[in-house]
Amino acid sequence: MTHRVPALVVGGGISGLVCAYALQKAGIEVQLVEASARPGGVIHSIARDGFLLERGPQSFAGTAALRKLCAELAISDQLLQAPPRAPRYVLIDGALHPVPLSPPAFFTSSLINAQTKWALLRDVFGKTVPPDADESVAAFVRRKFSPQLLDRLVAPFVSGIYAGDPERLSIRSAFPQLHEAEKVTGSIVRGMLRLPKAKKGSRERPTLQTFREGNETLVRALSNRLGAALCAQTSVSGISRQSDGSFDVRLSRDGSEESASAKFLIFATPADVTAKLLGQLDSSFESLLAPIEYAAVAVVSLGYRKNDVGHSLQGFGFLVPRSAGLRNLGTVWNSSLFPGRAPEGHALLTSFVGGTTDPAAATLKPEELAILIHREISPLLSIKSGPVFSHVTIWPRALPQYNLGHGDRLAAVAKLLARFPGVWLTGNYLRGPAIGSCVEQSLAVAEEVRESLSP
Ligand SMILES: Cc1cc2nc3c(=O)[nH]c(=O)nc-3n(C[C@H](O)[C@H](O)[C@H](O)COP(=O)(O)OP(=O)(O)OC[C@H]3O[C@@H](n4cnc5c(N)ncnc54)[C@H](O)[C@@H]3O)c2cc1C
Repeated sequence: MTHRVPALVVGGGISGLVCAYALQKAGIEVQLVEASARPGGVIHSIARDGFLLERGPQSFAGTAALRKLCAELAISDQLLQAPPRAPRYVLIDGALHPVPLSPPAFFTSSLINAQTKWALLRDVFGKTVPPDADESVAAFVRRKFSPQLLDRLVAPFVSGIYAGDPERLSIRSAFPQLHEAEKVTGSIVRGMLRLPKAKKGSRERPTLQTFREGNETLVRALSNRLGAALCAQTSVSGISRQSDGSFDVRLSRDGSEESASAKFLIFATPADVTAKLLGQLDSSFESLLAPIEYAAVAVVSLGYRKNDVGHSLQGFGFLVPRSAGLRNLGTVWNSSLFPGRAPEGHALLTSFVGGTTDPAAATLKPEELAILIHREISPLLSIKSGPVFSHVTIWPRALPQYNLGHGDRLAAVAKLLARFPGVWLTGNYLRGPAIGSCVEQSLAVAEEVRESLSP
């Protein structure tokens, strides 16, 4: 059976859901196909034994676009906000220290040496020019500040976002605002202070949020709005271009093959899947998109009786520099941030293992990962007894890496895409992996599709 649909969105993670929703809202007939039975991609909340855990992202920054989306979906009343001043800790010399987040805290912190403080002053009052060539995050921090800042604060922060290697991540692709700040003003601090003024409406610092029943509330609300336009358990296995410029799409559903004809194709699939599908139109897509590296990450959620935990757990959690010699990348104290994450008298702690600097970690068995994390966090948090609850998720391809050359790669993809009018890309490997970035990008793509229909 072949059916015609003006717009077909492939992939029902947050990127595809938001894009399809925005197209539908604009009055464009759309179909969203999602390979698995459950939409949401890596966003997956689970309620079990009184604990409410997240298998993927633990929370998200409440950006203006996300707030507006929640209001439209009538789920704003379910939003929970993390305490905005919750301290974040970093493990240095075997103990947890609060991360200095304000300028006075930075200059008085004993974690930061004089060389780094002096480098910061030099940045505030001086002027530097970024190199023409793509620069790694590590090289950028060493050039502008110090190796100590890289090891103690920047690298752990980078692994918290990308689970990546600062020696390979590109500063201009992974943190474009920092690159832009230096390029425009010659100073990171001056440039970052100027940024909110240039970007109208973004003066507010987004706080971390989730929903009362977990991040999946957003997925469910979008899926409900899409209704029959969302086809789960349906994957795209092939595409070809027709002589009239439309696309013939082969779909597999419940073991049977179907085809659809679409004028607009929006790929919201991971880079490797997009590479294979678009490679059927032009093999250059495959050679450009397939090499984008993804970090494997294991998410280990452990529940403890509060009486067994000596630490107060007041705060966001802690990050672990690689020099500390642990495999844990960091631990979020979920039940300290949001209510309803653990039964009365219990605490839920979620840790991350793996990333591109420790790919072997994600090959461990779930039981081994739970034991490893319990062993590593127990002395830091004075935990006296084993966990009463444990859940482990291993994502073999969790997070895309914006490594050196990523910007040139995406520019080449954009150039190639110009030869295929009607095809758009969205997803977390393009303009930021955060949920907020995926939402903004998907709304922008939907707007481009809408504009292409206007006379
Ligand atoms: C462990 C982890 C922790 C994270 N922590 C945070 C955080 O704290 N805050 C934050 O903002 N972000 C976080 N992120 C990042 C963020 O969650 C993701 O980048 C974002 O959700 C990705 O959404 P997506 O729709 O682009 O991709 P995905 O969620 O990967 O969705 C892609 C979808 O495409 C479908 N698909 C694949 N092939 C086909 C096919 N052939 N046909 C049809 N469908 C197909 C897949 O089934 C999937 O549903 C985290 C991510 C992970 C993995």
